[in-house]
Amino acid sequence: MKISGSTAALLFIAFAFTTPTVASADDHSDAPQPKTFYGYTPAQTQKWVDEAPDLPSKEFAVVSDAGSEGNVQCAATASKEQTEIDLKFIKRAIKLASHNPAQAMHGHAPDGGLFGAVIVKDGKILGEGWNTVLKEGDPSRHGEMNAIRQATHDNGHGLDELAGATLYTSGAPCPMCYSTMAWANVKRIVYASDYSDAMTYGGFKDEPIRVSLGLPIDKREWPGCQVESGLGRAWWEQYNAVVYKDGKGAKY
Ligand SMILES: [Zn+2]
Repeated sequence: MKISGSTAALLFIAFAFTTPTVASADDHSDAPQPKTFYGYTPAQTQKWVDEAPDLPSKEFAVVSDAGSEGNVQCAATASKEQTEIDLKFIKRAIKLASHNPAQAMHGHAPDGGLFGAVIVKDGKILGEGWNTVLKEGDPSRHGEMNAIRQATHDNGHGLDELAGATLYTSGAPCPMCYSTMAWANVKRIVYASDYSDAMTYGGFKDEPIRVSLGLPIDKREWPGCQVESGLGRAWWEQYNAVVYKDGKGAKY
């Protein structure tokens, strides 16, 4: 059974009375702090995590149905020690996700959807963030994308450092974020809510995109077509030997 809309509303209201002051991109401290690309300093992000409420009570959080097809429970495939680590970081991802509804509850325009993400390697956080699609007017600013941009662009981690990392995200990554994690050679993805939840509670179209990708390209909800196969191949042949002759660059 899924939690009802009215129960979800109660959760929303209960949450409103427990949220701390929302970090603002306009906050200033005496010491200059590096700005992240999406407007929040690492200190502001950490402050939010420190002050954000704990997870919703089980009264609201328990959903007993199976959710999306193909879900695999982490605890069934990982050691007890790994499961504890997973819980620690997924809780952090959810706290980051709670920033946006808290903004709305305090009368501010939310940065974006209710999603947060953390990228971790060897117990160290490489990057993290929440969804800032509305704030930036940029559909690629999902929590996972912001986390990876913070890791690379802001924190200076090289692509080789991301290889083998784990992505923790409050909601199952959409095909865009999933693909980006694949390009970054992230080794493992751990999520809390799934595509079914995202559709039920937020109307997000992760599942229709996933289904569409499995269809022939002209039958998809967002169809495509090739102009001329020879044209593209000639382009590869003209430049491939020059640009990639030493094998560099081909990976990404
Ligand atoms: Zn995404």
